Amino acid sequence: MICVNCFHGKTKVTNSRSHKKKSGTWRRRQCESCGNVFTTYEKPALDESVTVHYPGAGKNGVRAPFSLSKLTLSIAASFSHDQVARQLHSLPLAETVEQLLITEVRQPSADDIAATVHQVLRRFDELAALQYAAAHGLVETTRKRRGRPSIR
Ligand SMILES: [Zn+2]
Repeated sequence: MICVNCFHGKTKVTNSRSHKKKSGTWRRRQCESCGNVFTTYEKPALDESVTVHYPGAGKNGVRAPFSLSKLTLSIAASFSHDQVARQLHSLPLAETVEQLLITEVRQPSADDIAATVHQVLRRFDELAALQYAAAHGLVETTRKRRGRPSIR
């Protein structure tokens, strides 16, 4: 891996740790040229052969291979009520969903992905979960509701 500081071609691993309960590896690397130390994190990625339905632009949304950035955007679309959470949490939430899908579902379908996003959002922000559910047709009763849906 190249150095993030000086782009030198060689860095060496000075320390590494595997998670005992999660599938991921943390590594400390050091540049052989400038001595800069940085950290990398290796974790599994969801197979891109999985096709997912993304709602959003266009009435029917799009069907496309799984993409973390598209998942992030579809989660971000559920945070129209909270721009700070949208900025800060859309990507980490998408990463959480991806890791859950890898460990809990072998060949996730679009429905599995939508259900997992909904489950993760419900734990995080019920209003975002409601917006997501409405956009994905997970619940029908929210569509014509006026104003802010009541939480609980
Ligand atoms: Zn360097």
